[in-house]
Order: sequence, then structure tokens, then C-alpha cells
Amino acid sequence: MTTSNTGAVAPDITVPEELSNNVVITNIAKLLDPAYNWARRNSIWPMVFGLACCAIEMICTASSRYDLARFGMEVFRATPRQSDLMIISGTVTKKMVPTIVRLYNQMPEPRYVMSMGACASGGGPFKEGYNVVDGIDKFLPVDVYVPGCPPTPQALINGLIALQEKIDQQSIATAPWYRKDDPTAGLVPIPVLGPDLVDLRQLDTIRREAARSLAEQEKQRKEAEETAVSPEAA
Ligand code: SF4
Repeated sequence: MTTSNTGAVAPDITVPEELSNNVVITNIAKLLDPAYNWARRNSIWPMVFGLACCAIEMICTASSRYDLARFGMEVFRATPRQSDLMIISGTVTKKMVPTIVRLYNQMPEPRYVMSMGACASGGGPFKEGYNVVDGIDKFLPVDVYVPGCPPTPQALINGLIALQEKIDQQSIATAPWYRKDDPTAGLVPIPVLGPDLVDLRQLDTIRREAARSLAEQEKQRKEAEETAVSPEAA
């Protein structure tokens, strides 16, 4: 057995000189990951899903001039259950977040999220809006951010290539996959939209802050009562 520069252990098999250009000695572990990633990186199916003006650029990217078919990504699916990639293309309003998270949860693993444009990544020009979320990454794990307002088709393609490079680094042994023993693994709690948007993962913090705020208000009320009574007593 010999150890290569990469640390991989290879069996001592001598390849005849005349076959050295045609035969490669490898092992299943080294072969499996590239094959698995090669197949996935060239057949990413995005979901048909647009939120605002950025979606127009996404649609242009899929059309003939830019031609996503070159990357095997032209099959935009109309259901999350057949999609690998969710492109958040546009302004994310609080009203839409529960639906976006529900769709994300319905996508099979391994799944990816791309934040396209200033709005999806940080609220963009509507950041201060009462109804706008300042970044979808507050709710979903984002794999690639594409800057711009709107990003050009070239920028979106650059983001898709970055996603391909990320997939190249994954291993079949560790990539997230459907787990029969725990089908809820990887699910994101769906936020609740009431007077405001509530992320259920933040409930402990919200309760703690609410209790602290109530205690503070009570303290101020008592102090105000005492100062109101004191002059008369004097
Ligand atoms: S980033 Fe710009 S182009 Fe994209 S949705 Fe927001 S305002 Fe529209």
C-alpha cells in the first residue's frame, strides 16, 4: 500500500507501461464523491418561484439568450418536492415568509437556497419598511448570495457556478439526506404572522425580553406613583 500526496491510501498495483495512459487505479471512496457531485451539480432543478422585480432577471436567465440549459438547470419545477434549489428572487415581505419556509420544508434534501438581490439578502431599498424582512437568512440557511439591484443574468449565473463549486466540495457520506429515523431533521419551524412576524425559534428570547420589559414598566409605574404621592405628604 502507498500513500499519495492527498493522504489517500492506494493499493500497490502496477500498471503496465503500455496501459498507463488508459488505466486509472482508484478506490470506491475517491470515485463515488466526484460521480455523485458531478451528477447533482449538472442537474440542479430550481423552483418556479419569484417574489418581485429580481424574478424578471431570473426569468431572463432561463431564456434563450443566457440559456441555463448549458448548466443542466433549465428545468424549473412547479413543485418544491422536485426542486433542489430555491432562488429567493425579490423583496421578502413578512406575509410571504411563512409560505417561503413551508415551501423550503417541502423540498427534498440535499437542497440549496440562493439569495438573489439586495432585497432578499438584506431588505434592499425597502429595509426600513414595516412589512419587509431584512434578509431571508434570518429564517433559511442561505448557500449563495448574489449582490445587485437587480443582479444581472450574468451575476445570477456566477452565483449558480458558485453553488456548483460548493456542491463539488460535498461528500456523499456527509451531505444531508432524507433520514427515515428522523424525517423532521432539517425542518425549519414555520414563523407565525400575527401583528408582527414571530420566529418560533426565538420564543425563549421573546418571552425573556417581554418579562424584562413588563418588569421595567411596573418599576417605572411605582416610581411615578411614589413621586406623585410625596409632595402631598410633604
Ligand atoms: S433587489 Fe432591487 S430589483 Fe431586486 S427585488 Fe429588490 S428592488 Fe427589485
